[in-house]
Amino acid sequence: MTFQITILGSNSAVPAHGRNPSAQVVEISKKPYLIDCGEGTQMRFSQYGIKSSRIEQIFISHLHGDHYFGLIGLISSYHLLRRNKPLDIFSPTGLEEIIRVQLEAGQTELCYPLHFHIVDTERHQMIFENRQMEVWSLPLNHRIPCSGFLFREKKKERRINKELFEAMQLPHHLAPRLKAGEDVQDPNTGEFLSNKKLTLPPNHERSYAYCSDTAYYEPLIDLIKDADILYHDCTFDKAGTDRAVQTYHGTTEHAATIAQKAGVRRLLIGHFSAKYEDLSPLLEEAREIFPETELALEGEIFQVEAAPVLFNKG
Ligand SMILES: [Zn+2]
Ligand SMILES: [Zn+2]
Repeated sequence: MTFQITILGSNSAVPAHGRNPSAQVVEISKKPYLIDCGEGTQMRFSQYGIKSSRIEQIFISHLHGDHYFGLIGLISSYHLLRRNKPLDIFSPTGLEEIIRVQLEAGQTELCYPLHFHIVDTERHQMIFENRQMEVWSLPLNHRIPCSGFLFREKKKERRINKELFEAMQLPHHLAPRLKAGEDVQDPNTGEFLSNKKLTLPPNHERSYAYCSDTAYYEPLIDLIKDADILYHDCTFDKAGTDRAVQTYHGTTEHAATIAQKAGVRRLLIGHFSAKYEDLSPLLEEAREIFPETELALEGEIFQVEAAPVLFNKG
């Protein structure tokens, strides 16, 4: 099952140095989900081969413009392209009014259903699910109400030990019960068979935590424990700590410390201030604390790996 993240924008506030405001596409089982929709997101779709018509859910972290100013453009394009399937938008309160006033000013009546869902930015709760995955809100610490998002695969079934199952010539109808964790009886011999003997533990449930924008915020650690990939606000370098504290943003040190304390496998840093043209010093600073750090740059695709990968923590 595919599980990957494509970065469409990773700058804070204004576009600069070829970097754009926040937007990412998370693709799970070939279905794309959009997180944040900064100005110019539509252009990034065509640039990076994202089929935007397939997006049915959009998750907006908060109402600072660098995270949603591309939304009205995208909503309008869907209308002009005669979309008919519904679009669900998840965000803190206030976004629906902003979008509706823009549509009303142009006397636009959308040709598809647009549904808004308010995310409670104080609570960690499941806000969306389907057969493959769940999305959970992550309360963040920012100047205005702000929520991160945790994308997680659904709990998986145990795996049949195929060799043993076939060697014992067990009937196939026992497989679903074994996968669900039940003990069974061998119909050939009447023998009682323990589930543990015939099955292996389920595959690891992959997860991705998007945490922007936020100051250093330790309550997050328990909520993102052992995530495969964490994206964390890294607007400033270490020298910019005072500015980060004043503006409720993160630094290299903050992002890497949260990653380390939460025991995530990989860290992506982003939401860079326009004052940094060269980001390599930020990457070095973060890697001093958390070696498995990468820059979340436009066009980069990060795979959430199927099996745990052991990193050399040096
Ligand atoms: Zn921002
Ligand atoms: Zn913000």
